[in-house]
Amino acid sequence: MSLTGKKALVTGASRGIGRAVALKLAREGADVIVTATSLERAKKTADEIILLGRRAVPCEVNVGIRQDIENLFKTVTDEFGNLDILVNNAGITRDGLLMRMKDEDWDDVISVNLTGAFACTREAIKLMAKAKSGRIVNISSVVGEMGNAGQANYCASKAGIIGFTKAVAREYAKRGITVNAVAPGFIETDMTGVLSENIREELLKQIPVNRFGAVEDIANAVYFLVSDLGSYITGHVLDVNGGMHM
Ligand code: NAP
Repeated sequence: MSLTGKKALVTGASRGIGRAVALKLAREGADVIVTATSLERAKKTADEIILLGRRAVPCEVNVGIRQDIENLFKTVTDEFGNLDILVNNAGITRDGLLMRMKDEDWDDVISVNLTGAFACTREAIKLMAKAKSGRIVNISSVVGEMGNAGQANYCASKAGIIGFTKAVAREYAKRGITVNAVAPGFIETDMTGVLSENIREELLKQIPVNRFGAVEDIANAVYFLVSDLGSYITGHVLDVNGGMHM
């Protein structure tokens, strides 16, 4: 197991992509801090990791709230002492056409998807810079690259993640820290579970491999970037979208 002894933090790991990433890292040997907005939901994934024989610490965190992030990193320091891997995965949608988009729909999405990743990365970098090593993966989206009608807030947050990733990659490359983004296409999770059959059919026509992605497709990409296999890759956006955008 190539991640044996590594300490990882995955935000939004109660369900969907975050849960699959947390389980993959644990299967490869990492101990994992698992966050969700409810302790009970975080605990469910943590319990699955403990069954795999790894350490897991569940944490209740809203990444849009600075105090929660401060508390989270106090837990990271108390429980792990250091941090090798950060996966900024927590994300939300508040879709609507621009003319009807409420200020709070814009603010909430930017706050969770972009500012949350910034605040977690800033804390993680303090620990990683001291250790002169670390791996950060930010979960962006294919629509951050292509745009999508009805998702101006979400697309802005996910495009922002890409610029943020590249800036931090340049700042910390000399300190042995790699910073990359994974940009998933449409993946089968609760987030896409709300799409109507019509929209799913239309989307499928745009995906050359003719299927939605599985959460494991994203977990494997994250694993590749955080393992030794990805040691010379930084500032990269890895598209995992079945050919939807190339
Ligand atoms: P999901 O099934 O809706 O799960 C979202 C996760 O984020 C949950 O663990 C949730 O925790 C957590 N979360 C929500 N709001 C949060 C907050 N304010 N603070 C901290 N955690 C919060 O979503 P998903 O489809 O797995 O998506 C995961 C990431 O991939 C997101 O960044 C998303 O934008 C991105 N992505 C998804 C797709 C896709 O097709 N599914 C495509 C491209 C990109 P609770 O259980 O407590 O709510």
